[in-house]
Amino acid sequence: MTLPDSSPAAASTTFAELQIPAPVMRAIADVGYESPTAIQAATIPALMAGSDVVGLAQTGTGKTAAFAIPILSKIDVTNKATQALVLAPTRELALQVAEAFSRYGAHLPQINVLPIYGGASYTVQLAGLRRGAQVVVGTPGRVIDHLERGTLDLSHVDYLVLDEADEMLTMGFAEEVDRILSETPEFKQVALFSATMPPAIRKITTKYLHDPLEVTTKSKTTTAENISQRYIQVAGPRKMDALTRVLEVEPFEAMIVFVRTKQATEEVAEKLRARGFSAAAINGDIAQAQRERTIAALKDGRIDILVATDVAARGLDVERISHVLNYDIPHDTESYVHRIGRTGRAGRSGNALLFVSPRERHMLKAIEKATRQTLTEVELPSVEDVNAQRVAKFADSITDTLGGSGLELFRRLVEDYEREHDVPMADIAAALALQSRDGEAFLLSPEPPPQRRERNERNAERRDRPDKSRPTKDFATYRIAVGKRHKVGPGAIVGAIANEGGLHRSDFGHISIGPDFSLVELPEKLHPTTLKKLERTRISGILIDLRPERSAGKSSENARRGPGSGGGKPRRKHAE
Ligand code: AMP
Repeated sequence: MTLPDSSPAAASTTFAELQIPAPVMRAIADVGYESPTAIQAATIPALMAGSDVVGLAQTGTGKTAAFAIPILSKIDVTNKATQALVLAPTRELALQVAEAFSRYGAHLPQINVLPIYGGASYTVQLAGLRRGAQVVVGTPGRVIDHLERGTLDLSHVDYLVLDEADEMLTMGFAEEVDRILSETPEFKQVALFSATMPPAIRKITTKYLHDPLEVTTKSKTTTAENISQRYIQVAGPRKMDALTRVLEVEPFEAMIVFVRTKQATEEVAEKLRARGFSAAAINGDIAQAQRERTIAALKDGRIDILVATDVAARGLDVERISHVLNYDIPHDTESYVHRIGRTGRAGRSGNALLFVSPRERHMLKAIEKATRQTLTEVELPSVEDVNAQRVAKFADSITDTLGGSGLELFRRLVEDYEREHDVPMADIAAALALQSRDGEAFLLSPEPPPQRRERNERNAERRDRPDKSRPTKDFATYRIAVGKRHKVGPGAIVGAIANEGGLHRSDFGHISIGPDFSLVELPEKLHPTTLKKLERTRISGILIDLRPERSAGKSSENARRGPGSGGGKPRRKHAE
């Protein structure tokens, strides 16, 4: 069954309707989620009822909570056996998923969630396994290692999740997944999440899932043409700065700033007030009377900025809202359409702005596809733009004050001062202006020179997508001690090396599989810690003993030499 995003059931479900036990509900309230995302509204009831589920969903849709909440709701916390296993393609995702389980399970005191992934110390993981972890979130390679060592027992697994299954296959983990599944009991609940549904995933679904409910986040809605839609690329940590710059430079009458959680509405509104903007928060926790007062204040211009969650702003109809700013990208295209529909009311034109971090670009594509409109990329206002605005506003405020009343008294006082102290009028005016700043700088400091700024931005981007050891330099050839004799394929090699070494698929060049060893092209300058980890990595239980291939030249040469350059009669695969 396909439950589109736009299904009314999905749109109006509340967490309270999902029969989630109190401790998990409390954790959901703590993290500030107001209502389930579309994938959660469709998936949670099915998983609670015991169905297998296939979710076609990407990161950003709330898919982690879609499986973590029902698992935590059903698990027997008094039993220390591993009852839930989540397989994830990368250690970053494994860690992220484990953290999510810990967050949603914060009020289940007996729960132990253990991430197991390559590159981390076995000792810590072994201690965790010995203590008993009801939920294990692992990468396939390391899960196999633990199975082989006899340190992980999957015979009590009731819930199995394959997260980002397509990514897992692309990384060459098909065999590992098969093997892990064969070690789990026949009767268990399986959930598979994947951004795409290639035939290989379909096959896994048919093989391992029983009559699954298929949930996909699809949207057919379009947006109004009187709304201009723009986006700005900005990494997570810079969003607050970006927001204040936009507010200073963009001429707007009133604006709704959309964020994901209740806490974020308060935090962002508070920070805006501290920076001198007239902002207020609305979210589902705010009493109706207060909400009405806030909206009345927005209508008559006592406040100009409303920081809201999707739920709180539903149906809001205020003509003076000239702008909608999507501070946090929405979970689905449907929400985007609802959000931007708050502007451009009563035949006016509206403006929609969206902050997109590098890892959220797929959501941008989905929005463009669903709304059948292209969003225009615009640059974040520069320091010069902001300062020019500040100077212009300063001049305007002088003009306004001069045109008003009540100047008489101060004119006399200033003239007295000028006479008594013999100070030029311009200096007195400057002193008064400075006094009014209360110690705060009037202009933004210039940005660091481009080179440093780019590096900072790259760092911010990297923080956003933790992919620390991804070099971009030339390739070099490395030898590993596994080959055809050990029945390894290129997929297993990419999977293990990427996972253990924290590398990305784009870090792989050609792979040549010889009879007893293989040659793999990897970045020439691998970080020493990555090298160290890779020396200790195992594939099919065999130490790969990765080391630079002395006889081989640089890989750009290898690539030119073409197939078979790696020794024996190797099989080649381009891993990108
Ligand atoms: P995921 O797709 O699982 O990576 O989740 C994306 C982001 O959405 C994470 O930051 C979650 O904390 C957040 N999130 C998940 N469910 C909800 C919800 N119901 N309301 C608001 N935010 C959510």
